[in-house]
Amino acid sequence: MRVHSLISDYLHEIMTDSSSSEGGTVADYIPELKKMDPNLLGIALCTLNGHLYSTGDDTAPFTIQSMSKPFVYAAALKEHGLDKVLDVVDVEPSGEAFNELSLDDETGRPLNPMINAGAIAVNQLILGEEAAVEDRIAHIRDFFSRLAGRELEINQRVADSEIEHADRNLSLAHMLRSYEVIQDSAHDAVRGYIEQCSIEVTVRDLAVMAATLAGGGTQPVTGERILSPAVARQVQAVMASAGMYDAAGRWMTTVGIPAKSGVSGGMLGTMPGQLGLATFSPPLDKKGNSVAGARIFQNLSQDMGLHLMSTEPYGIQTVRSIRTARNYTVVRLQGYINFAAAERFVSRIGEAKIKTKSFVLELARVSGVNGVGRRMMLEELRRIRNSGVEVWIFDPENVLPDPDLGDGTYPRKQSRRAAFALLDDLRRSASTPTE
Ligand code: GLU
Repeated sequence: MRVHSLISDYLHEIMTDSSSSEGGTVADYIPELKKMDPNLLGIALCTLNGHLYSTGDDTAPFTIQSMSKPFVYAAALKEHGLDKVLDVVDVEPSGEAFNELSLDDETGRPLNPMINAGAIAVNQLILGEEAAVEDRIAHIRDFFSRLAGRELEINQRVADSEIEHADRNLSLAHMLRSYEVIQDSAHDAVRGYIEQCSIEVTVRDLAVMAATLAGGGTQPVTGERILSPAVARQVQAVMASAGMYDAAGRWMTTVGIPAKSGVSGGMLGTMPGQLGLATFSPPLDKKGNSVAGARIFQNLSQDMGLHLMSTEPYGIQTVRSIRTARNYTVVRLQGYINFAAAERFVSRIGEAKIKTKSFVLELARVSGVNGVGRRMMLEELRRIRNSGVEVWIFDPENVLPDPDLGDGTYPRKQSRRAAFALLDDLRRSASTPTE
């Protein structure tokens, strides 16, 4: 529970700081969406070991809208393979709005699966040309439910309301038909696409779905392997270059998280190999992205060092060992301590339950610590100390300078000699390592 409150508190802080950004308007071109409460605000984060953290309106349901596109693309890739899907939809960023009436001049192919033309074409691939709209939708709903780890439903009111106002999407479908990219009638094609957009989710569902992509296709909570790593990679690569429509370039340079937004106000993002993220706040900017969501992503990216192009190394097993000897619990960390690494450390400590008089954090093999990693480690040490355990650190390379525990107190520093004597003791003691 400790780790839970630590990270949820952190998310809450980011959320409160980001929500002050006024502005934006709730989407109104789908009448049912106009009824959404503009004050709803939620964040969720799911790590690849299946830990799910959330805060705010994290159980409020909303329709997935354009955030369905990467997942239906994944389903099509799974069903048909990359070559067949590429024959129908390209992977070039369009730099255009989501509902732009544009297709490749020569081939008639939509430029990518994240714009509506591409998504309508991809929807048609599910279960093949001959499939009925109902069967396609049932298949997509079932697939999304496996990704979320719970049964998801379609919000029929939102779907019906969008069908009534679908002239733009209908004209896209007519164009796709004229190039023989799709076979269904324009009405059927758009209905299939709109129903996929009307599947209802929460930020918690989206974070888990995003983490499935980030983890190479394994649903981190249920453990089910749903996609191959190659499909997960393809989908995230397309999200990175085309996920944010006409804001894609600026998004990649400033935020650097492959992401997808939807007109309902949701936004999801993936950090490959680390985590899935999702936000929900209905007011949108002119490009159709949630104002508070974009701000939260930007703040999280900066604060947690989550930019895809950042050169911080990660991926090494963080907790090298947890051992006890005499009255000491000694935790040895290694590698670079970013958010994912610190989360791993904090949750392992929570599981191990410190019962000894003293706790030693050994940082000799830690190569560096980023801002959020540092905050989380110090906060964890403070909590251990507050539970009545004496806290020491062994930090010969000074990777954690000035380790103020947040209240002006410091952990005790272990001298090189004492640390080596203790480590030697550990090596000889019979206690079994836990990792
Ligand atoms: N169903 C919406 C449309 O096609 C989705 C758009 C979006 O979320 O960006 O207009």
